[in-house]
Amino acid sequence: MARLENKIALITGSGSGIGQSAARLFAKEGAVVIVNDLDEVKGEATVAEIQAAGGQAVFIGADVTKEDQVMGMVSAAKERFGRIDVLFNNAGISGVGALHEIESDAWDRVMNVNIRGVFLPSKHILPLMMEQRSGSIINMSSCIAEIGLARRASYSATKGAVLALTKSMQVDYASYNIRVNALLPGTILTPFVENYLQTSYDDPEAAIAALKSRQLSGDLGRPEDVAQAALFLASDESKFMMGSPLYIDGGVTFG
Ligand code: NAD
Repeated sequence: MARLENKIALITGSGSGIGQSAARLFAKEGAVVIVNDLDEVKGEATVAEIQAAGGQAVFIGADVTKEDQVMGMVSAAKERFGRIDVLFNNAGISGVGALHEIESDAWDRVMNVNIRGVFLPSKHILPLMMEQRSGSIINMSSCIAEIGLARRASYSATKGAVLALTKSMQVDYASYNIRVNALLPGTILTPFVENYLQTSYDDPEAAIAALKSRQLSGDLGRPEDVAQAALFLASDESKFMMGSPLYIDGGVTFG
């Protein structure tokens, strides 16, 4: 039996990178995937690719920072499927700079997407999961919640907050048979990281080499590495994991 047979899984920001990879993998494992993204073209392309491979997916667009759009997304999902078994709060953006360099608007944008963008989908999907008395929520943190990296002040703050929020949510919803866990990836080569490297360094190749040298693995991660960990947390195989941080980081955090 497929690992997510008959599960309805909503993945925010799944038109690209890790979310897209998770959407493909979840569908391959039998889930009906609700692909969410701000970018309709990328979201629809992900759905078309999954369907062409024989999987089940629909696109429901929403900006995860806008409550009316999130509520619209949740009611469309509820109307169509009646339940949501897995919520993967994956959408996120980067933020660069030491604290004194960051404009307050840029600070607010990173807080908004990376924290409010976890709060809102969770707030509006939790009542459904509480009614079902089951659910798995996966929150995207980062190993940066644990280790200091240069000029990543706003981004680090959001990922630390997501980790703390995960633990708090777990305590509040455990009695409803809802599990809430966090993913802590290291550097994963996605459009998000490519963009960060291109815009933050004069010599992106040298920056990649420096990042690789910090890894015990000697290499950077791929979206599929994180998608496999998300699949585990989404499935009942991880039923004894509650409020846990799961590191997928090539050894950079503890190495
Ligand atoms: P990505 O940029 O490839 O994909 C992110 C997707 O989120 C994009 O398709 C984007 O359109 C969407 N998105 C952005 N804002 C949105 C919003 N307001 N509403 C809905 N969708 C929105 O990025 P990625 O590297 O796959 O990162 C995914 C998550 O993983 C992020 O939360 C990121 O912080 C986290 N993460 C990434 C890495 C890494 O090295 N790539 C490491 C640790 C954590």
